[in-house]
Amino acid sequence: MKITVIGYWGGYPGPDGATSAYLLEEEDVKVLLDCGSGAVSKLQKYIETADLDALILTHYHHDHVADVGVLQYSRVVDMNLERSTRPLKIYGHTGDPEGFQRLGKEPYAIAEAYDPAGVLTIGPFTFTFQETSHPAVCYAIKVESSVSGKSFVYTGDTTYNKKLVPLMKGSELLIAEASFYDGQEAEKYGHMTSSEAARLAAAGEVEKLLLSHLPHFGEHKDLVTEAEKHFSGEVALAYEGLENEIK
Ligand SMILES: [Zn+2]
Ligand SMILES: [Zn+2]
Repeated sequence: MKITVIGYWGGYPGPDGATSAYLLEEEDVKVLLDCGSGAVSKLQKYIETADLDALILTHYHHDHVADVGVLQYSRVVDMNLERSTRPLKIYGHTGDPEGFQRLGKEPYAIAEAYDPAGVLTIGPFTFTFQETSHPAVCYAIKVESSVSGKSFVYTGDTTYNKKLVPLMKGSELLIAEASFYDGQEAEKYGHMTSSEAARLAAAGEVEKLLLSHLPHFGEHKDLVTEAEKHFSGEVALAYEGLENEIK
């Protein structure tokens, strides 16, 4: 499966950027994980909006759902112009009923609740979930491909939380939020530092760590240096258009 970073900023998009959004592709199936501010604009550099099969959301903070409304409108236009014949499926949790209730725009976008204790299957992808520790109800997501049998985990937003470790077992890659630099008070804000992201990757025994949900201060390359002190695998920094192939 191919994972493309569409947006990597935390909080709000930097100039000409986007907040959290990651495109998954395997065979002809295309799924977006989170749909932050700027995501719909950036997504069109990689695929046609009409070709998107589904969106799955970790939680309903603005930097993860800001573009859900305009993504719904893209499907209104795509269906009316007959570029697409099927509604977009938008999956979210019901832990915040008001947040969930905003996801649908029938008959163009259908809101579907995922069961965090269950398994969600979309084409070759299976998704499993683990609640994180964050001011809003949020789920980390493990994505496995039935084509390759390989998987990765996306933390969503979280403080350092060992409950995420079992989810990571056997995965190649961890896409972890690194909202703060080593030594800063990330936990107070419901987030992780670079070194906490790295400790999580080490505990989960993944091969590669991709730092994302990046801060609007400091030098991002320092996040990598800090993470490398706690994780012996490969550490990379997210940027728009970065592709990870997991085969
Ligand atoms: Zn959040
Ligand atoms: Zn966030």
